[in-house]
Amino acid sequence: MKNVTVIGAGTMGNGIAHVFCQYGYHVNLVDVQAASLERAIQTISRNMDRQVTKGSLTAEAREAALSRLVTTTDLAAGVSQAELVVEAATENVELKLAIFRQLDEHAPAACILASNTSSISLTRIAAVTGRPEQVIGMHFMNPVPVMKLVEIIRGYSTSDAVAATIAGVSRTLEKIPVEVNDYPGFVANRILMPMINEAIWTLHEGVAGVAEIDEVMKLGMGHPMGPLRLADFIGLDVCLAILRVLHEGFGNPKYAPCPLLVNMVTAGKLGDKSGEGFYVSDRETRSITVASPFRK
Ligand code: NAD
Repeated sequence: MKNVTVIGAGTMGNGIAHVFCQYGYHVNLVDVQAASLERAIQTISRNMDRQVTKGSLTAEAREAALSRLVTTTDLAAGVSQAELVVEAATENVELKLAIFRQLDEHAPAACILASNTSSISLTRIAAVTGRPEQVIGMHFMNPVPVMKLVEIIRGYSTSDAVAATIAGVSRTLEKIPVEVNDYPGFVANRILMPMINEAIWTLHEGVAGVAEIDEVMKLGMGHPMGPLRLADFIGLDVCLAILRVLHEGFGNPKYAPCPLLVNMVTAGKLGDKSGEGFYVSDRETRSITVASPFRK
């Protein structure tokens, strides 16, 4: 397999494109917004510069990787030669169904269609295509160049051969594939999101402040990042979308998103990607401080 197309050039899409081109694949990165594609190229170049400085990538390998990466806003053209598509567009079920209909129409018949969805049913996504046995979840973790796990989600119809191929592809990226079944939130987010939601409830009810909640979980549980910081890093809109999938999928009120999270997303406070969530983050200086509504 040589030709991979990544759909969506946001937080995850740029990381996924980064690792595929770093490990020798030819990558076509597709987004509806030209500005997202430009930002993604800048982010990938900057992150590869950091790898060169750290000595984990040579300058020649960086140049070679970037020369294997092209971008387009035209999905049909972007997937016409693809052997594997990894979809990493916004976490919205109707949007993903529409994209998979288009992928099924324009990608070669043998192409495997993978989704990086955090929570949406792969069986449901596969059902809108004429090739459900070739549809699979390939759930990378953020930041993609750093995190080792790929959660592989088998839809109801995913074939053994496709699951084995995707596990093999993950290993070529020096990732570790773990196969799970298709239920809301799979494994990673079924466990992570209720914890993040509970941290937001803890803040909302005034039990403790942003920094205190994160300190307790870092120092007390050995987490590298507190849950509120992690929520900002993931994107509060993404967290809300996943909680809604869990809430609807299980029909259990314990997954209902905290109203503070809903309010913040409505106000456009999406975390790092918008510059403010529970913290204010500055992309240039990389400084992080508690956001003003939560300062004491
Ligand atoms: P994001 O908001 O950063 O980026 C989404 C990108 O998709 C944007 O650039 C947007 O322009 C693009 N897009 C929207 N509609 C499109 C279309 N029709 N065609 C092509 N591109 C389109 O989102 P993200 O955080 O990168 O999340 C992407 C996917 O990855 C979601 O399914 C999410 O659940 C999943 N995911 C996110 C994380 C995380 O930590 N953020 C981790 C694992 C998985």
